[in-house]
Amino acid sequence: KKIIIAIDGFSSCGKSTMAKDLAKEIGYIYIDSGAMYRAVTLYCIEHQLFDEKGQVKEEELKARMNDIHISFRLNPETQRPMTYLNGMNVEDRIRTMEVSSHVSPVAALGFVREALVRLQQEMGKEKGIVMDGRDIGTAVFPQAELKIFVTASPEIRAQRRYDELKAKGQEASFDDILYNVKERDRIDQTREISPLRQAEDAILLDNSHLTIQEQKEWLKTQFLK
Ligand code: C5P
Repeated sequence: KKIIIAIDGFSSCGKSTMAKDLAKEIGYIYIDSGAMYRAVTLYCIEHQLFDEKGQVKEEELKARMNDIHISFRLNPETQRPMTYLNGMNVEDRIRTMEVSSHVSPVAALGFVREALVRLQQEMGKEKGIVMDGRDIGTAVFPQAELKIFVTASPEIRAQRRYDELKAKGQEASFDDILYNVKERDRIDQTREISPLRQAEDAILLDNSHLTIQEQKEWLKTQFLK
């Protein structure tokens, strides 16, 4: 019997890598809910929906929510899911520091969460999915059969993010990244709607000192239990 697997946790703690790998190995569909919040944020940047202070122009965004269409398509070569915004592949553009530093306030808006949670629940109608995010086990699929909550120290997460951006040829300062990681943690944990927290029935994984391979094996064991 196929199930729903919810992987939640802090920014840049490797949730998506572990979720993607597990999905591939067990033949499930992987859905990156953070990519959806990032796509809405990219839309806001491209349509000047942030004011000079970096605040979201809420009413304008609300009026445009119906013009924002997000979907995922597999890259035929790599079989990796690519994020599409209004028919355009935005997979690379949603991963920049600019988007990372604007996303949390967008994700704190009730009407944004409502629209995206609905879309996520729609995508999860067929079982056999692994979804990663912040509120999958608490709000999107409280009934998920397996819930994992991932964490690691902010410094370790910032270092991983730094290495990842560097590998893609994007230079950013370690201090800026560390600040962004901590700031997102803070906003995600203190927002009113679905704040980031561990679901009561979630299994905690601190992967500060685990290699990707060790983490992969740990997760597989949890799935097979
Ligand atoms: O997972 P990722 O770091 O790409 O998510 C980007 C941002 O989107 C998070 O910092 C958080 O503010 C928001 N998010 C959320 N709920 C989710 C997934 C992501 O609020 N389920």
